[in-house]
Amino acid sequence: MLEAYRKHVAEREAEGVPPKALNAEQVAGLVELLKNPPAGEEAVLVDLLENRIPPGVDEAAYVKAAFLTAIVKGEAESPLVSKEKAVELLGMMQGGYNIATLVDLLDIPELAELAGEKLKDTLLMFDAFHDVQEKMEAGNATAKAVIESWANAEWFTKRDKVAESIKMSIFKVTGEINTDDLSPAPDAWSRPDIPLHARAAFKMTRDGLTPEEHGVTGPISQIEEIKAKGYPVAFVGDVVGTGSSRKSATNSVLWFFGDDMPGVPNKRTGGVCFGSKVAPIFFNTMEDAGALVFEAPVDKINMGDVVEIRPYDGKILNEAGETVSEFSFKSDVILDEVQAGGRIPLIIGRGLTDKARTVLGLEPTQMFRTPVEPFETNKGYTLAQKMVGKACGVEGVRPGQYCEPKMTTVGSQDTTGPMTRDELKDLACLGFSADLVMQSFCHTAAYPKPVDVEMQHTMPDFIQTRGGVALRPGDGVIHSWLNRMLLPDTVGTGGDSHTRFPMGISFPAGSGLVAFAAATGVMPLDMPESVLVRFKGEMQPGITLRDLVHAIPYYGIKQGLLTVEKAGKINEFSGKVLEIEGLKNLSVEQAFELSDASAERSAAGCTITLEEDAVAEYLSSNITMLRWMIAEGYGDPRTLERRAKAMEEWLANPTLMRADSDAEYAHVIEIDLADIKEPIVCCPNDPDDAKLLSDVAGTKIDEVFVGSCMTNIGHFRAAGQLLAQNKEPLQTRFWMTPPTKMDASQLMEEGYYNTFGTAGVRTEMPGCSLCMGNQARVEANSTVLSTSTRNFPNRLGDGANVYLTSAELASIGAIMGKIPTPAEYFEKVKSLSSKSEEVYKYLNFDTMDAYTSKAATASVED
Ligand code: SF4
Repeated sequence: MLEAYRKHVAEREAEGVPPKALNAEQVAGLVELLKNPPAGEEAVLVDLLENRIPPGVDEAAYVKAAFLTAIVKGEAESPLVSKEKAVELLGMMQGGYNIATLVDLLDIPELAELAGEKLKDTLLMFDAFHDVQEKMEAGNATAKAVIESWANAEWFTKRDKVAESIKMSIFKVTGEINTDDLSPAPDAWSRPDIPLHARAAFKMTRDGLTPEEHGVTGPISQIEEIKAKGYPVAFVGDVVGTGSSRKSATNSVLWFFGDDMPGVPNKRTGGVCFGSKVAPIFFNTMEDAGALVFEAPVDKINMGDVVEIRPYDGKILNEAGETVSEFSFKSDVILDEVQAGGRIPLIIGRGLTDKARTVLGLEPTQMFRTPVEPFETNKGYTLAQKMVGKACGVEGVRPGQYCEPKMTTVGSQDTTGPMTRDELKDLACLGFSADLVMQSFCHTAAYPKPVDVEMQHTMPDFIQTRGGVALRPGDGVIHSWLNRMLLPDTVGTGGDSHTRFPMGISFPAGSGLVAFAAATGVMPLDMPESVLVRFKGEMQPGITLRDLVHAIPYYGIKQGLLTVEKAGKINEFSGKVLEIEGLKNLSVEQAFELSDASAERSAAGCTITLEEDAVAEYLSSNITMLRWMIAEGYGDPRTLERRAKAMEEWLANPTLMRADSDAEYAHVIEIDLADIKEPIVCCPNDPDDAKLLSDVAGTKIDEVFVGSCMTNIGHFRAAGQLLAQNKEPLQTRFWMTPPTKMDASQLMEEGYYNTFGTAGVRTEMPGCSLCMGNQARVEANSTVLSTSTRNFPNRLGDGANVYLTSAELASIGAIMGKIPTPAEYFEKVKSLSSKSEEVYKYLNFDTMDAYTSKAATASVED
């Protein structure tokens, strides 16, 4: 075992990273060596046992806990691990497989006190709390001391407070740092391997940064240089953390600038991060991980500076003692979060303290900082405020109010899923408390690496044994499935930044928070303010829903609520809830196009006012789909059936919440549909850069992509109809990817695949395909029309210039090899209007024999 391990260490060293954490098999080998240690290897073996095994409910932790338990029970022996040492090591395992033994030891006189000391610092107690309580009630003094310690929050008070003054060096990146810079999509496969993945951060050359190898390894030497000044290093940017994959992005930041965690391999915590703007989900993810994160002007702070941060005065001073920036925290609770080791440990710990105080008959503690309660306006609530209120058991929640809404639905996808899995293990989660947790494989299915294939094999079991639902590779895009599992007016979350429920509301989050939501069934939330977009009037012929999606930034720019320029960037949508109303006869599929794109606005969430009929039609279809899934062998069947029954309950009394007429919004944007007379596109390479078609017509196009979660079956039929009219060879490379396998199969049945194939379109397996850019990619430096969600630099292809457009406009561009003029566009789409009923017909599974007959055979055992 040691020989193989040393080889692995050498290989990793050559890559510039520490060895991987030990797996269960390696720990089993280690255990045998510890029982009978070879001479000279003693220290190495103990270090491996102590520091190189993940804590929580990882399989390796299971083997470690079993060995240590055997030692304390006298069933195994090691000359290197005494019973006391075994208790100490069990106490470092945070929760999960170590807990039962530690609690049992409270009855063993010679080890009880030591076990008690370890339990006092353990937060992940969950139901085992009651076992300690029982012992206390039966007269066990150590158990009583443990509960008293929890009640007094000693787990918190014994940790260092945030210092009055922190001297740090600065690692500053100018311009916008999106999460793709920190966690590049083509490197998504390595995300769970934090040290390795971190090496790809900032791998593309940019102002002020010199990667080790352009496109491969980031500016490691530059980071080392700053660290060599001898101070801890703060990570600083102008605009920090825009985009998705926040957990892997924060992992990369923390790997370089955070602190080691004793007994936890290859993971770091803490650190300091600030910027003029910090994107809200990135902010929360850093907060969860224990970082001191805040917004502060950074124009007088440069790469390599040494500064003094005074957190309690809200000042940053340069070496000459001059104030170079002033700030205030979003909430002073962050000081408690940093002290506790992160927002999640703080929430779990506070819960434990409350429980212990209740058991001891004590008043709630005043020890923790509480968020400032917002001023009560007595005004009505917005739709989002009502939905979150319902999930908290109250009428509504005001902006700024801290709350913990119930998480009804939680989504996880495959490039963040392995990190969520690791976080779930760290949280000692063996069963989900959230009602429905779903895992997809849409980002890696088409062109998997061996590491993806391994994840695809192991993840379903992990999810299903905890009561979740696992899709299969090739099924399609997470949201196109998850949306079909939603309940109206409920709240959820997901690790993908495009988890943007079209009915109800979701607050997408980093993997740590998603794991927390899945495990506990609630999520911490500071209720954001809302921006209302109110559409009115009638949509004009030839204008698509995608154009309305782009109308939001277009009008935002016009009203001064959004700027495209990065320096001094204005984005009034950022961190707020985007609430959309006024669109009549909107289907839930269409609503998702609007809510999906709220991610590009950096909004915290999105609501859409829908009509009951549309929701009833969608749920009726989805009930059939869920039971069809059960009959097709998807699991967990009880979760799927429970959700189908909940939909039936809603249908028995179909009512939807609506905003109060006197609800207050941070901003209101009114858009008259009659004013949108031509398509609106978002230009390279910024989803905020919305322009009219006439401003960009004539641009030569090399490649076209129709796919992503922004599309539904209607878009593919529209593309097929336009292609069928064309008799000339395609002028571009045209990629097409239906969002789900059900869309693909229906398009095949209707003959559209034949049309695509004849036209020379490259059809891809249902899934994310080009959208994420981690698999197939467009040619470097090509100009592209795409229906995907975002056009960040290098996302679809290196140096590609990407225009985001409707499927209709993209298809016409593919045929013509250029962006058409409005006249050319309207001429070509004219033909679609007479066939609109046939083209824009959604998948209603309850009207399709293949699905209803199969669904009828579904059965669920108790
Ligand atoms: S299609 Fe694109 S935006 Fe949607 S989930 Fe996949 S990668 Fe994310």
